[in-house]
Amino acid sequence: MIHQIESMSEWDICIIGGGATGLGTALDAAARGFKTILFEQHDFAKGTSSRSTKLVHGGVRYLQQGNIKLVMEALRERGLLLKNAPHLVSNQKFIVPNYKWWEKTFYGIGLKIYDKMAGKLGLGSSEILSKEETLQLVPALDPEDLRGGVLYHDGQFDDARLAISIAQTAAAHNAVVLNYFPVSALLKIEDKVCGVWVKDSLTGKEYEIKSKVVINATGVFTDDIMRMDNVKHQNIINPSQGIHLVVDKEFLKGDVAIMIPRTDDGRVLFAVPWHNKIVLGTTDTPITAITAEPIPMEEEITFILKHIGRYLSKDPQLSDVKSMFAGIRPLIKANSKNTAALSREHYITISASGMITIAGGKWTTYRKMAKDVVDLAIEKFDFADMKCMTRNLKLYGHDMEPSPIVIGSISDDELKTFIKKAVTQEMCLTVEDFLARRTRQLFLDAQKAIDIAPKVAFYLAEDLKKDQVWIKEQINNFNAVAVNYKPA
Ligand SMILES: Cc1cc2nc3c(=O)[nH]c(=O)nc-3n(C[C@H](O)[C@H](O)[C@H](O)COP(=O)(O)OP(=O)(O)OC[C@H]3O[C@@H](n4cnc5c(N)ncnc54)[C@H](O)[C@@H]3O)c2cc1C
Repeated sequence: MIHQIESMSEWDICIIGGGATGLGTALDAAARGFKTILFEQHDFAKGTSSRSTKLVHGGVRYLQQGNIKLVMEALRERGLLLKNAPHLVSNQKFIVPNYKWWEKTFYGIGLKIYDKMAGKLGLGSSEILSKEETLQLVPALDPEDLRGGVLYHDGQFDDARLAISIAQTAAAHNAVVLNYFPVSALLKIEDKVCGVWVKDSLTGKEYEIKSKVVINATGVFTDDIMRMDNVKHQNIINPSQGIHLVVDKEFLKGDVAIMIPRTDDGRVLFAVPWHNKIVLGTTDTPITAITAEPIPMEEEITFILKHIGRYLSKDPQLSDVKSMFAGIRPLIKANSKNTAALSREHYITISASGMITIAGGKWTTYRKMAKDVVDLAIEKFDFADMKCMTRNLKLYGHDMEPSPIVIGSISDDELKTFIKKAVTQEMCLTVEDFLARRTRQLFLDAQKAIDIAPKVAFYLAEDLKKDQVWIKEQINNFNAVAVNYKPA
């Protein structure tokens, strides 16, 4: 793909950012037949897109807020994603436990409306359960004062693996998608954006890329790119951090997730089975500093442990946390300080110089976001009116043996094989790529990931033809990141 940079004189669409939004846009554009190139400064999904709650959902919370349009759109996308990526998305049962007299009726009716809104793409009917039925499905719930529960269905997925699968699908449609290629400046002729400057981080080589359209899909870094376009740009992103804690399955027992509809700060809290562990989260903390590796704050960790402890018979302690991770929501600014109330709808704008920016939204709606932004590019840049092709497009890997998610207990031969596959088919270039996003070892058990990192570095070095110095550097780099996934 790197060779194509040199041979192509001008691209139709150049995308900055390799998270859900950028990768989805690359796939949409390439599937319509446009000459498409995407640059990601780190690894695909290194940003927010590997740090979600792992739900493909309409958003019960947005229903509570009365945001019908967003919920309808997300429910439609949920259904399509389950059809197009059955290898990475599954139908997950959730229970809303009821401890107050009015909750059964209130959530029972709300979730029936949620079912109806999904229409033909629904995942199953919600049900009102007795106390006994609720405890049978989630034996770990605290039985004291429990009155019953409401069962409903939503989608669950592996976010980083889906990102890789979208990148592979885009590449299969002739898009060029490159990780470790930071965009450092925009190319302009007569005040119109006509391309980007990028650097290959691994070789240091710089490239001037010409493109008819440039799309900024950089999530929480949106404002940095907009400032490259206009130095006077005023921020549009209101960053909000959310963290998750990962604990062993014994804390929930069984395969049914729980959804706590209202925490002290008016949020929804989830405990969701994921790859044989439980993901607990999340928080909503307004922040000012944006980094590629955000770190969970002590008060966020305490908040989750305290709240989830109220609902489980065995309260998880800090020492039970196997991994923790933080992500930053690229929320669009509004005149509100409480980020939990900001819209998750996406936002698309085009600057005076012609750069298109897309931000906000949710993982669940990435396909619709991509369609909207490519539709706009077609309209504004007089491209041939090629129709969106992604509605029924099966994603790469849907008919293949799934890649491994944890590698703690596999043989050395298997590890070698998986590393080779990650390098040759999934653009894996570092120990962190392999342990955090090709497998999810770091997100599931940080200590196990640290323990296996030297072996991974050794096998990766064989495939990538690297030396001892590289191995040592890789282990150090990985440990510096991984230490923040381990509770103190
Ligand atoms: C805590 C939390 C929980 C969430 N849970 C869910 C959920 O369960 N379900 C759901 O649907 N949604 C969820 N979301 C929302 C969802 O994760 C995000 O909306 C989505 O991942 C945003 O994707 P993105 O591509 O816009 O941003 P990102 O994933 O951040 O991607 C932007 C990319 O741009 C790259 N970039 C930046 N600058 C440059 C540059 N100069 N050159 C090249 N590349 C650059 C970055 O490195 C980054 O990889 C959650 C979000 C958070 C924070």
